[in-house]
Amino acid sequence: MSAEYLNGLNEPQLEGVVNTEGPTMIIAGAGSGKTKVLTSRIAYLINEQGVDPFNILALTFTNKAAKEMKDRIEAAIGTEARSLWMGTFHSIFAKILRFEAEKLGYTRDFTIYDTDDSKQLIKQIVKELGLDDKIYKPNVVLNRISGAKNRLISWQEYIQNPLFKADDEQAAKPKLGEIYKLYAQRCFKAGAMDFDDLLFNTNVLFKKHTDVLNKYQHRFKYVLVDEFQDTNISQYLITKKLSAVSQNLCVVGDDAQSIYAFRGANIDNILNLERDFPELKTIKLEQNYRSTKTIVNAANDVIKNNKSQIPKVVWTANTQGELIEVIRATSDTEEGKIVAQAIFEEKVRKQLHNQDFAVLYRTNSQSRAIEEALRRNNIKYKIVGGLSFYQRKEIKDLLAYFRVVINGNDEQSLRRIINQPKRSIGQTTVDKILVYSSENDLPLWEAVERHPLYLRGRASNAVGDFANMIKSFRIDAERNDAFEVAKRIAKDSGLLKHLYDDKSIEGLSRFENVQELINAVKEFIDNEENEDKSLTAFLQEVALLTGVDQDKDDDPDKVTLMTIHMAKGLEFKHVFLVGMEEELFPSQMMLNSREDLEEERRLFYVAITRAEQKLTLSYALSRYRFGRLIECEPSRFIKEIKPEYLALSNKKAKKTTTTTEPSTKFVNNLMNKGFKPSQATNKAKAVHNNPNFAPSDTSGLAEGQRVEHPKFGMGTVLNIDASGSSKKATIKFDQVGEKTLLLSFAKLQIH
Ligand code: ATP
Ligand code: MG
Repeated sequence: MSAEYLNGLNEPQLEGVVNTEGPTMIIAGAGSGKTKVLTSRIAYLINEQGVDPFNILALTFTNKAAKEMKDRIEAAIGTEARSLWMGTFHSIFAKILRFEAEKLGYTRDFTIYDTDDSKQLIKQIVKELGLDDKIYKPNVVLNRISGAKNRLISWQEYIQNPLFKADDEQAAKPKLGEIYKLYAQRCFKAGAMDFDDLLFNTNVLFKKHTDVLNKYQHRFKYVLVDEFQDTNISQYLITKKLSAVSQNLCVVGDDAQSIYAFRGANIDNILNLERDFPELKTIKLEQNYRSTKTIVNAANDVIKNNKSQIPKVVWTANTQGELIEVIRATSDTEEGKIVAQAIFEEKVRKQLHNQDFAVLYRTNSQSRAIEEALRRNNIKYKIVGGLSFYQRKEIKDLLAYFRVVINGNDEQSLRRIINQPKRSIGQTTVDKILVYSSENDLPLWEAVERHPLYLRGRASNAVGDFANMIKSFRIDAERNDAFEVAKRIAKDSGLLKHLYDDKSIEGLSRFENVQELINAVKEFIDNEENEDKSLTAFLQEVALLTGVDQDKDDDPDKVTLMTIHMAKGLEFKHVFLVGMEEELFPSQMMLNSREDLEEERRLFYVAITRAEQKLTLSYALSRYRFGRLIECEPSRFIKEIKPEYLALSNKKAKKTTTTTEPSTKFVNNLMNKGFKPSQATNKAKAVHNNPNFAPSDTSGLAEGQRVEHPKFGMGTVLNIDASGSSKKATIKFDQVGEKTLLLSFAKLQIH
């Protein structure tokens, strides 16, 4: 019992680790060491009990979580850990299905359809059946099929069940059953499984082929599941079957962190477990090791407002810690700026690294304002579980439209959008245009315009319509500001409508992203600093912002940005939770029922409990939505935390800062850490005297000094030239390279 991974475990934790036989459930609050118990239990099984790693199956929620657990176990017991089966339900059962594919009539190399493949197939079926795809929208249909599969309802059962039929008829979609049938048959014929099939077919496999089930029951003598609260029925049944013989099932979770009900996760699984495993031993963990008292107490306050929950105690022996800071920003742009500045300051003040910080938000599109502020402040970041804003497909699409409008010869952009959304311009037609352009040595756009010379019929008409559309955008772009043009392009290109029609969660997120890009254009033209309000100027600004592709930089020291859903199970020293506004969080779509609101509250609970030392909540008083400035109200969730744990911040973005307490403290701290007073005073001067990035007092400017420009970001002074009538400085900016600026105009801030 001297193993290092057992050191320091408290009594119930130890119990969870060493009592390896029989069904065990640990339902406990955030940060109480559930995942730690699970990893230690695996290490203990292998190391102390001599269990072959081959006999252990550990199921986690994300690939990232699986990798982290594997690393931790490897650190504890060495490379033996590598033969463990540890992964997400989907990845593990895809692997098993490959071995057993023939039993289900598939071959080993079956294809896995992603959501787009599935939607395409459904679209085709709807067309073949002569149905209206406005009623039978691919997403709606796919969601329905997915829901059925996750409840283990086959197409045969579906079409026979009068209840579903009645349901579908009421929803004016009587043919759903028929589509499900054809979809399933076609997938099978194509040798393909969609995501839901991976679980559905595993269930079928275990039900129909008891010998196969038996084999895996004996192989996986120990089954462990993390984040059990988020499993759906289909996943639960697989787990239950696999551990029916050995009974060695260990699940850990927290009902207060169940945040996937909308994807079919079912809290009832916790209750089912007691029924299905009468010997079930329940262990409670009550001590939180992650967070300060303030954070733990605040989280307890919040979750108390939910009616449906398993009562539990969470306390911590950690220090009281700092109060939860609440930032009130005038706009989402200012919110981004304050957060970026706060990260910068806290890093210096507390000697922290970028990777100690996370910025969490409710919806993907919120990342834009934060990303831009971080880029301007030269703080490296990464987005977990998604792409950075300007890398997202729909954003690239709309930007490609902008580019083609500005420059019709931009081949990459033209290729990207000529058939996006679909307008019957196939690859062959595109190739013809390119060939014509290169053979006749013509600029690409000219080749497009001359299409009647080499295209016929439908293709010719489609290209003609497309060219006319782009030309009319071009006329618009010559007369109007970027915002007007951008709005029109998003609308008239059909891009916005295409996304609007897609009612899936991903579709909604893409729609919001496009809206957010339009908001960015609006902000751009509203910004007094930008004299040129044209679409060209906006594109230039975006190019400057996105020039350095942070995603490809493998420096691990980065601030993490992600949606709260992606943050489950993770922890960070300092967490910023942004966009704490009514209708954003709780989301406008989750206000209709108590159940939905409770799910939002659990999401809030998850967010709060990611923080170890400090939590900052922020909200904006106004935010662009759909290109209009909307007034916002602070989220009701803030009020659910007792005021004694909250501190209203007086942080303001540098632009409007006069004298703020934190910056004075910041300067003092710099001095305490041995910074030369002259530098510190410079900083103080910069903050206090030049709040608006007004043309600065650059008399003290010297070569080698770090400066900040409102547009170009941080840079180093290379050279100062006072020879002419006006003093100039050559500055190498970190992101945009060298620039020579006239100092009497340059809005520089000395750092
Ligand atoms: P969540 O509900 O968020 O998934 P969890 O219950 O899985 O949280 P862990 O992530 O396992 O909690 O643990 C939270 C933190 O507390 C980790 O940093 C872990 O290393 C630490 N921890 C857990 N138990 C102990 C202990 N007995 N002594 C010291 N640190 C501990
Ligand atoms: Mg955990």
